[in-house]
Amino acid sequence: METSSRNSQVIHAGIYYPRGSLKAVLCVEGRDRLYAFLRRHEVPHARIGKLITASEPEELPALDAVERAASENGVPLERLSAEQARRLEPHVRSAGGLLSPESGIVDAHALMDRLLAVALEAGAVLVPRTNVVAIERAADGYQVSVEDAAGTETIAAERVVNAAGLESDRIASLAGIDVDSAGYRLHWCKGSYFSAAPRCARLVSRLVYPIPGKDSLGVHAVVDLGGRLRFGPDVEYLPDRRADYRVDPARLAAFGAAARRILPEVRDEDLEPDISGIRPKIQSPGGPFRDFVVAEESSRGLPGFYDLIGIESPGLTAAMAIAERVAAQIRA
Ligand SMILES: Cc1cc2nc3c(=O)[nH]c(=O)nc-3n(C[C@H](O)[C@H](O)[C@H](O)COP(=O)(O)OP(=O)(O)OC[C@H]3O[C@@H](n4cnc5c(N)ncnc54)[C@H](O)[C@@H]3O)c2cc1C
Repeated sequence: METSSRNSQVIHAGIYYPRGSLKAVLCVEGRDRLYAFLRRHEVPHARIGKLITASEPEELPALDAVERAASENGVPLERLSAEQARRLEPHVRSAGGLLSPESGIVDAHALMDRLLAVALEAGAVLVPRTNVVAIERAADGYQVSVEDAAGTETIAAERVVNAAGLESDRIASLAGIDVDSAGYRLHWCKGSYFSAAPRCARLVSRLVYPIPGKDSLGVHAVVDLGGRLRFGPDVEYLPDRRADYRVDPARLAAFGAAARRILPEVRDEDLEPDISGIRPKIQSPGGPFRDFVVAEESSRGLPGFYDLIGIESPGLTAAMAIAERVAAQIRA
């Protein structure tokens, strides 16, 4: 019900992230693992590709930086002239662009259903609507207290993997980690979407992104497997940690303008508030790049405690590579 259900459902190629960062490495590895899993388990997906467009000639130099980052990460991109971009996507405003053939879309809900089925078959137990409320270090692991409508119970765990998304810093702090000195404090950063009228969906046949901004990839045109077109997500750092997923209709004018930068034929009347999601960001507003945290916490006196913190985009794409990394640490 949280971030994994509230995102662009894009399989990222791994273009933008700094070389050698976990975001870069786990995105590229995760993408390949994800495509293989989706094929094997017949989860709906499509490698439709993505066009990154420079809307104006002044933006063309910014494509060089994107191209450089992609090549450092080993991600194939094809440079397109304005004419080539127009041939691929006739309705997109483009002075030139980059085509990413490895980018795609997935039905994230079907993916989660499938992952759950695989986990249950392997002996996992899902306990929904149950909150972890306390974690105590024990001689042979951890005592994890959980609370549901019926009351509180304590589970003895040899190992704990903290993959609590927006609450992962709070869970780390329950285990005794000083999240500020560890650099784990999360900022909640909402991203809203507006959906476009069906007539607009015919205007694009692949994902279309602008030149990326500092805090996000920029409001982009996302097509889903049902053929719907949405624009989003924008960037709104929340002043407090309150998950209000309603999309403010007053954002229409900003979304209309952002949509027309990519697709000039979209009118404000075509757009309606749609879903939103909240990014668990370690990066503060306007702050420097921050990587995923994927850490075994022995050095903080917590052996067998694994923290996954700041798993924002490309977390869906990287999920299987993140899991494999934790599994490898557990096997080590
Ligand atoms: C607007 C937006 C767009 C995005 N677009 C993309 C994209 O196109 N491609 C991509 O690769 N990534 C994208 N992402 C990132 C991706 O969605 C996330 O990285 C990923 O879904 C995170 O998964 P998760 O399992 O870590 O967190 P979640 O899905 O949030 O799961 C965390 C779980 O922990 C549970 N939990 C929390 N606290 C407790 C507690 N105390 N006790 C018990 N359980 C608890 C929650 O209930 C939740 O079920 C996007 C994110 C956003 C916000």
